[in-house]
Amino acid sequence: MPGLADVERVALACTLCPLSQGRTTVVFGEGDPHAQLMVVGEGPGRDEDLQGRPFVGRSGQLLDKLLQEEAGLARRQVYIANVVKCRPPGNRDPLPEEIAACRPYLEQQVELIAPKVVLTLGNFATRALLGTNEAISRLRGRTYPFGLGAVLVPTFHPAAALRGGGEVVARMRADVVRAHQALERAQPGSHPGPTAEPILAAEPGLEVP
Ligand code: SF4
Repeated sequence: MPGLADVERVALACTLCPLSQGRTTVVFGEGDPHAQLMVVGEGPGRDEDLQGRPFVGRSGQLLDKLLQEEAGLARRQVYIANVVKCRPPGNRDPLPEEIAACRPYLEQQVELIAPKVVLTLGNFATRALLGTNEAISRLRGRTYPFGLGAVLVPTFHPAAALRGGGEVVARMRADVVRAHQALERAQPGSHPGPTAEPILAAEPGLEVP
């Protein structure tokens, strides 16, 4: 079975979808290859495309801050990837065929890293990994079984949280707390307890553009 570096080597030369034509770099992902928490976003923006790293702008700063404050995790302790590895032109949404073409890379990343908890950021990552068309505002607020013994925690994309203001950031923060609780419950010897699912009560829906 190929390792993460092998998958990355293939992705860095990928021309499977038209996004290859406008990219500067392929943003494969970065972090601890044995991370217990994997964060999955949508796709590279301008700064990410230029630097070849995920979440390096203001969105990344918010993500880093919430992970540190609510989960005690530095960026190097998690693994961060996107649904599509190349920047959609003008930061448009990735198209279904682009997501489908890129999906095998994400699936291999998830399989090889084998995280205990996957934190999905926004509609595209959440829908892709949960196999649903529901909006993130309806999906977030609880955890979902994912793969072999892992859980998935959906939250807003940090760019949407920055646009939405304090209330949306607060809900994203609550979701990171939820992910941290799921991580703690995944430790050997921990017990799920009677309030295992959902970990926190679902909050009222909040529509975020
Ligand atoms: S977005 Fe994914 S599938 Fe499309 S060219 Fe880039 S790496 Fe290949």
